[in-house]
Amino acid sequence: MKETILIVEDEAEIAELVQLYLKQDGFKVHKAALAADGLKIIEQEQIQLALLDVMLPDMDGFTLCRRIRENHLFPIIMLTAKTSDTDKITGLTVGADDYITKPFNPLEVIARVKTQLRRCTVYNTAASPTVYDANGLYVCKETHICELYGKAISLTPLEFSILWYLCERHGKVVSSEELFEAVWGEDYLDSSNTVMSHIARLREKMGEKPRKPKFIKTVWGVGYKIEP
Ligand code: CA
Repeated sequence: MKETILIVEDEAEIAELVQLYLKQDGFKVHKAALAADGLKIIEQEQIQLALLDVMLPDMDGFTLCRRIRENHLFPIIMLTAKTSDTDKITGLTVGADDYITKPFNPLEVIARVKTQLRRCTVYNTAASPTVYDANGLYVCKETHICELYGKAISLTPLEFSILWYLCERHGKVVSSEELFEAVWGEDYLDSSNTVMSHIARLREKMGEKPRKPKFIKTVWGVGYKIEP
């Protein structure tokens, strides 16, 4: 049996279509038409990934996403009818790992789901423990633990992937393009906003001053780097 996926979507047709494709691929699927029901399912079942509609009758998907993130780190993909960049960025800053714009091809959804799950698996089954420990920042690839001055920071799988990628290459500048292609596993096209908003969220969690970040430095016009 593959992973268990939760779909929170009030449009029954869309929910059923996505469920059908996921089931065909061997996934176990739970559906909820209301955010409140989705939260209940998360408490009762072992969910490995959630697909959240943005426009729900009882709560907007962004709020739902934030609520889930208070206790859970599994990947979250937002389903949005809006195509504006602000929506995209809002979704990513509340802790979502990806977003898909409606109308979508169900195969696209399956592909994104797999990309997100693969990323988790890669980090959960790393063969040798690999640690970055410098300047008060401790990041362990194997245990997925990130600590700042001994205090744990809870990161989403995607945020952890970004941070680890930079830590692994500490001292080197990593371009947005390289980061995006490595972490998201997709072609870069015009994804600088996506990378930027995730870096911003990471810095916020690490208590960085926006204008003077201590850990993740911006190298203007080139990319990002973590000091050795
Ligand atoms: Ca809806």
